[in-house]
Amino acid sequence: MPAEDTIADKLIELEPDIHASLEGGSTFLKFPKKLEIHFTELDTPKRRKRILLLGLFAIILFDLFCIADRFMLPDIYVTAWKIRLGVITPAMCFFLVLISIHKLNRFIDLFAGFLLLLTSGTIVWFLILSQHPNVVHYHTGIILIITFGNIVVRIRFLYAFGFSVAILLLYVFAIDLVSQMPAEAADNSSLVLLTAAIISLIGNYQLESEIRRDFLLTLLQKINTIKLKETNRKLELLSISDELTGTANRRHFDITFEREWNSAARNEYPISLIFLDIDFFKSYNDNYGHQAGDRCLKKIGDALNRSVRRSRDLLARYGGEEFVVLLPHTEMEEAFQIAENIRIHIQNMDIRHSYSEITNQITVSLGVASALPNLQTKSSYLIEQADAALYQAKNNGRNRVVRYSFA
Ligand code: GH3
Ligand code: MG
Ligand code: MG
Repeated sequence: MPAEDTIADKLIELEPDIHASLEGGSTFLKFPKKLEIHFTELDTPKRRKRILLLGLFAIILFDLFCIADRFMLPDIYVTAWKIRLGVITPAMCFFLVLISIHKLNRFIDLFAGFLLLLTSGTIVWFLILSQHPNVVHYHTGIILIITFGNIVVRIRFLYAFGFSVAILLLYVFAIDLVSQMPAEAADNSSLVLLTAAIISLIGNYQLESEIRRDFLLTLLQKINTIKLKETNRKLELLSISDELTGTANRRHFDITFEREWNSAARNEYPISLIFLDIDFFKSYNDNYGHQAGDRCLKKIGDALNRSVRRSRDLLARYGGEEFVVLLPHTEMEEAFQIAENIRIHIQNMDIRHSYSEITNQITVSLGVASALPNLQTKSSYLIEQADAALYQAKNNGRNRVVRYSFA
């Protein structure tokens, strides 16, 4: 439970940032710090897996172009194969290994970006090496690489932007070295490449915005569920407790007592009740005021709460200045002892009551009844007995415990 609570607290703490980010529109690409950390924590494992799979796929596609090299670059295809299979493929594998290392989580996009740069660079390398006229068609490979990185792998926008610019610059600077490329064609292919980069970057930006927005909305939904659960829990607690004393209320007592009575009847265990009533409470109220009366009731409620500690026992305010204690699995003698302890405890609290007719403190009278229930007898029978014992305690002079007896 505590672990669940801390997660809930952590999420609720993020709520203002979530609202602020959502209100910021779709132009955000970085959340406030804590939110960004949470986003990365949740997102990274899935992304790593996806990027690794796509990386392997990219290696296969990249090496598949050995076939194209054979026909398109007849002058350098052996060198091209050596470069593809002997240099670039191992380098790609090396970057994939780096991506798979959890400690290097922060650099996933950087490594993926280097993969794009590396493969694009290889194509530029071939453009420079080959003297064959076919080579001019090879620049389309760079378009594929940029599109793959920005739209399919979806490296984060800022990295996508940075690496697209780097690839473009590399291409533009290198194109002058390509002997087979007329100036007009070079300009045109640079322009085509630039357009491809811009289009794929727009797509990348939109995708990332949507992913981030979805993440925020899902978080908000989670937070709302947590809050709703918490409100329900509070409402439930309110519906079963007495507002002034914080003990259980009459309704909750009635339901619990009925249930316990039936359970005791089926399982044949004894059950006891203690009824407690404050002595001369009317004169306390009349002389000290209703608010002082309320405070006194609260103190008594607290004291009772401390005295009734076993988990199955139930303390409830029965009404007015009367409390009831339900004690399952408890015989008369034990219940009597508990009642007597309560009486002494309250007397020792020494709450001044100068208008009590028996002493100058608040005292209580208690009636105890006990039964071994059976399914034929009603639960109200035990209540009547405890009430009768309480009445007897009042009659016998108050500030005392009386057991119900049939005599
Ligand atoms: P006894 O010793 O016979 O029990 O005398 P008593 O004066 O305590 O009994 P009575 O039934 O005549 O008076 C109960 C008083 O309890 C009446 C009412 O003013 C007070 N009382 C009941 N509920 C509350 C409450 O919620 N707050 C306050 N301040 N007083 C309450
Ligand atoms: Mg009373
Ligand atoms: Mg009273």
